[in-house]
Amino acid sequence: MQDANIKTTSSEGDDAEKSASSAKAQARRELRDLSHGELVEILEQLGQPKFRAKQIEDWIWVKNAQSFDDMTNLPKSLRASLAERCVLGGTTVAAQQVSTDGSRKYLLRFDDGVAVECVGMPSGNRLAVCASTQAGCGMKCAFCATGASGLTRNLTASEIYEQVMHVRDDFNTRVTSVVLMGQGEPFMNYDATLEALRRLNSPEGAGIGARHLTVSTSGVIPMIKRFANEPEQFTLAVSLHSAVQRTRDMLMPGVKKWSLLHLYDIMGEYVDKTGRRPTYEYALIKGVNDTEDELAALCDFCRDNLAHVNIIKLNDVKGSRFQPSSDARAGEFVRRLASVGVEATIRNSRGSDIDAACGQLRQIVERNLKE
Ligand code: SAH
Ligand code: SF4
Repeated sequence: MQDANIKTTSSEGDDAEKSASSAKAQARRELRDLSHGELVEILEQLGQPKFRAKQIEDWIWVKNAQSFDDMTNLPKSLRASLAERCVLGGTTVAAQQVSTDGSRKYLLRFDDGVAVECVGMPSGNRLAVCASTQAGCGMKCAFCATGASGLTRNLTASEIYEQVMHVRDDFNTRVTSVVLMGQGEPFMNYDATLEALRRLNSPEGAGIGARHLTVSTSGVIPMIKRFANEPEQFTLAVSLHSAVQRTRDMLMPGVKKWSLLHLYDIMGEYVDKTGRRPTYEYALIKGVNDTEDELAALCDFCRDNLAHVNIIKLNDVKGSRFQPSSDARAGEFVRRLASVGVEATIRNSRGSDIDAACGQLRQIVERNLKE
């Protein structure tokens, strides 16, 4: 309605001016999405020396500047010229909650209104961050709150990175590890995920050791293959949840087209190639993947392989037909895996009182949208 009003009251000249200025605004690139080369080119056009690129990159990647005015060691005129050519997207906190265990969960909203969740989990002098790689997820795992809503869109590398910086600044302390276990399937957004990981690893970025940067995938085989060839020592976690084909197909329909046998082979290649130990995530679901047959299949899948199994207590997802297994059953899984030489641990879910735990991220988003 408003658009119609503007059209009828404005003259043709006004219209032309408006469309020219909106075209200009549209043409402005997000500063964080520019490559180093592109930034240098813009600075050259502005007659600026090369070292300005380093200063600007330091502001955006290390200091996490939120506006051009934060960049106090740049001349005011340069800040103004940059603002004419680029935008520095403002991420806003749409909601925040603090758990009794000290975890903090944030709902961060990007410029286009899309919101994702990330979580900061402090422990002693360490700070782990769980970040999202997509808004929503298209993989439709039956037990996951994120999967139920489908995919909204991929995040850019800088949007993934930004979540970690936001948590760092809120806790005002160094981030010691990052897990990409928030919303989304990182390997369905491979390039942006890798770019974000590299920036998190870089001394000119967050400076987090590659081994402390973990990607979790539901098992997108072609990308596991690609990941094995990356030069960095990033850590890989694979959501297994069942080593019985029929059960896994039911729980994880999005990866049905790649068989467990295929996954087994590719993980063997991954280990041979990288020498690194992958983690298998296994959320125990009562009567579904915690039976004797399932345990035997899991032992077979992992024995004689370099593997660490993370037994996860299934988190409550509203409206879900699945129930978590008992603690005793989880203990039995750990013992039986140990008896065949496979190291397994039970993962404590952090922040479950604030729906920040795995697979619960969507619920708070929905609640917030309703509010
Ligand atoms: N998409 C990726 C990473 C994000 S999900 C993946 O699936 O690996 C992060 C982890 O949370 C995965 O291991 C996933 O299987 C697990 N998860 C999802 N829903 C869960 C739930 N309700 N309870 C426990 N873990 C869950
Ligand atoms: Fe997507 Fe991972 Fe949830 Fe499956 S478990 S729907 S892959 S976020």
